[in-house]
Amino acid sequence: MRAAVVSPDKDKLVEVKDVTLRPLQYGEALVDIEYCGVCHTDLHVAKGDFGHVPGRILGHEGVGVVREIADGVTSLKVGDRVSIAWFYEGCGHCEYCVTGNETYCRSVKNAGYTVDGAMAEQCIVKADYAVKVPDGLDPKKATSITCAGVTTYKAIKVSDIKPGQWIVIYGVGGLGNLGVQYAKNVFNAKVIAVDINDEKLRLAKEVGADFTFNSLKGDPAQWIQEEFGGAHAAVVTSVSKTAFNQAVHSVRPVSKVVGVGLPPETMDLEIVKTVLDGIQVVGSLVGTRKDLEEALMFAAEGKVDPVVQTRKLEEIRDIFREMEEGKIQGRMVIDMKK
Ligand SMILES: [Zn+2]
Ligand SMILES: [Zn+2]
Repeated sequence: MRAAVVSPDKDKLVEVKDVTLRPLQYGEALVDIEYCGVCHTDLHVAKGDFGHVPGRILGHEGVGVVREIADGVTSLKVGDRVSIAWFYEGCGHCEYCVTGNETYCRSVKNAGYTVDGAMAEQCIVKADYAVKVPDGLDPKKATSITCAGVTTYKAIKVSDIKPGQWIVIYGVGGLGNLGVQYAKNVFNAKVIAVDINDEKLRLAKEVGADFTFNSLKGDPAQWIQEEFGGAHAAVVTSVSKTAFNQAVHSVRPVSKVVGVGLPPETMDLEIVKTVLDGIQVVGSLVGTRKDLEEALMFAAEGKVDPVVQTRKLEEIRDIFREMEEGKIQGRMVIDMKK
């Protein structure tokens, strides 16, 4: 079968080649992949930013249909549509796995990084960890929910925002745009979108942001404090420490600032503000199987609508180049049948 694998030559990043999957083991299922989204994380993996993994099949935004199940599979049947997400499998018995924090399992496996992923005609999944995609959700669009969707949905959940309260989302690109939609249409919050890109802010407004602010044109924290008395929560998807710092100053006392973006920097956390205002700054990593099930359900109900565009597997290197050049709007999704 055709698959996009990490190239042994780091400069080439990725190559599309013929790969044979191993036979299924107990508890596993074989999935015919229909679509797989292309994420910045795939580019990091291909570049070896987390350690070089030559030969690894990329892809953690996969959606496909179960073709075959091995012995011991009770949660899936042939014909079910399932997703292949970054959280591929936890150990199932550690402190984190048994307390609803399975994405923090120390023995976690990640699709398209520590195990073969979904940028291929077929993918092997651990049946108990493959979350079903509901009927009525376009599988192309479902790919975005497996990553950006569940990540922002979970971050908003972690922020403890309540209906009618103000939430500010820093960074409204691929992640943040879905975050605006979840915040508005699922959590019933009032949404402020902050970015440095007017086009992304326009799109954020289009999908439901109540207010937008371009942080190149002023201090968003000061504006949010003056206009709204501070937000009740902040979610930061930006890859910039400035945004993290501004987020802390955007919220009112006893609020949470939830970090999702991963700038390789240190944020300045003003101790006086943090202590006197009782601010909590927390991280949030993708989402559990349950979070993904919920995030997919809301998308199936039409509350969230990812913007996607389909491409061919053979175009993967072009897609990476466009990604590096910042040319991509919405999500590029590989259509395995193209
Ligand atoms: Zn992703
Ligand atoms: Zn575990």
